[in-house]
Amino acid sequence: MLTGQMMAFPLTITHLWQRAREFFSQQEVVSRLPDKSLHRQTYADFAARTARLAHALTRLGVGPGDRVATLCWNHRQHLEAYYAVPMMGAVVHTLNLRLHPSELLYIARSAADTVLIVDRSLWKLYEAFGPQVESLRHVIVVPDTGPAPGETLDYESLLAAESAEYPWPALEENTAAMLCYTSGTTGNPKGVLYSHRSTVLHALVSCMTDTLSLRQSDTVLPVVPMFHASAWGLPYSAVLAGAKLVMPGPHLDAISLLDLMETEKVTVAAGVPTLWLGILAALDAAPTRWNLASVRSMIIGGSAAPASMIEGFATRHHLEVTHAWGMTETNPLGTVANVKHSLAGRSPEEQLHLRASQGYAVPFVETRHVNDPGLALPRDGHTFGELEVRGPWVAASYYSGDGADRFTADGWFKTGDVVTLDAEGYMRITDRAKDVIKSGGEWISSVALENALMSHPAVLEAAVFAAQHPTWTERPVAAVTFKPGQTATPEELRAHLEGRFAKFWLPDAYVVLAQIPRTSTGKFLKTKLREDHGDILLRPSATPG
Ligand code: ADP
Repeated sequence: MLTGQMMAFPLTITHLWQRAREFFSQQEVVSRLPDKSLHRQTYADFAARTARLAHALTRLGVGPGDRVATLCWNHRQHLEAYYAVPMMGAVVHTLNLRLHPSELLYIARSAADTVLIVDRSLWKLYEAFGPQVESLRHVIVVPDTGPAPGETLDYESLLAAESAEYPWPALEENTAAMLCYTSGTTGNPKGVLYSHRSTVLHALVSCMTDTLSLRQSDTVLPVVPMFHASAWGLPYSAVLAGAKLVMPGPHLDAISLLDLMETEKVTVAAGVPTLWLGILAALDAAPTRWNLASVRSMIIGGSAAPASMIEGFATRHHLEVTHAWGMTETNPLGTVANVKHSLAGRSPEEQLHLRASQGYAVPFVETRHVNDPGLALPRDGHTFGELEVRGPWVAASYYSGDGADRFTADGWFKTGDVVTLDAEGYMRITDRAKDVIKSGGEWISSVALENALMSHPAVLEAAVFAAQHPTWTERPVAAVTFKPGQTATPEELRAHLEGRFAKFWLPDAYVVLAQIPRTSTGKFLKTKLREDHGDILLRPSATPG
């Protein structure tokens, strides 16, 4: 082999930070505080405060590889931790504030966190698990709603005492940078340990025009929490691009977000479908209340974005949705549903169909789908199989060591998603493997049924799950919530689905709920639906579909 003669320049987060400081020092980071006021700082302030935080953490004894946990909303201090901790050679570990204290205790113990940065507004949650984490040596409180309690350290006072220059170490690019745990809907939560290299490559590819298309003129609103899959890497990709960042703090309701999008002239916002369904309902109720002319892309992922929602935003509000798929294990970006240039001539319906799929893989992520013995399946658009992925920002193993069965001998990660792939590479998720409905031996796609139900004008959300059935083993049942002041009968819902699906796909019953139970990361919690309603077809009073 003849080795190339180019520099072995490490891909580190430090470079993103240096670039932001050097070229975009006047760019803004805007954070919404709990009292709804806005705090503004520049990238120059961000750079100086990041150095101060690194000094403070060094003084507290944080060394290479140590885990520094955060329990925070999206705001500037969280962004500072995203940079200071990895740039020191330590690991930032984001704790999901929507988890139960017992889960947080399990995760913090598993990670052996030594320092925790927590919002004052989340202090009660901290108290419910933090004192039991044996490895924790220091707790630093971000004073978002008042001063730090007694024995703890105040984030702002710590920073005020430190210098704004830090001698950042030269890091090797495979140094660990960030630790995120999966939400553990199947078994115990598992840690995924991102590296500097994986984070930087992920950020670079996120900025590409044909992926998420982030650029310097953007104003990026990560609504997706920084405690979930690193807010889809946006705190790194937006800083790499030199874009303005708008952090929503704890205010994630539709009205607050729409106000923020308008006043800060947001161009790109990102979050899970349930949030955008709320935003669409708010816009439909008051179509002229907000001027959203600045918004050019709303990135939606985490669960399937219904086609009716994508269409509703486009036709009624001139807003474009970018639908993407990913996982904590994939840093998270894996596929994006942009329409290829060669397909741009297709009919509007076909284009909507493509945009509502999970899309095709971004550069450096490879996809295949396999059957039970692990053999690759044809890309014909209708053969289902489990999706496997590989690439430079896909986990090669879990931090905690378990879950080894999710990695194949030939170097692929088994996602647990059941998909079809078509000849163009477009992927369509039909289910998560643990949620598939198998009726009389035939698979029924809950995602396809949900999308169709959500196109009914009265339906706000729909989750289709497997209920026990005496003859067919399992049959689909739909849980639905209605838009305010609206309703529909099971017969009407069934009529809406008829003609779109084979008869045996149609749900046997409809359960009307005030709210569909969700996981901590906003996905339908089908285990709970099955627990509460899984026997509905065995009960004499079952509502027929
Ligand atoms: P968790 O910790 O809940 O597993 P992740 O964010 O890692 O959280 O979840 C990843 C899963 O979310 C994927 O395996 C897939 O099932 C689902 N998902 C993500 N994006 C989409 C999407 N665009 N459409 C459908 N499902 C999605």
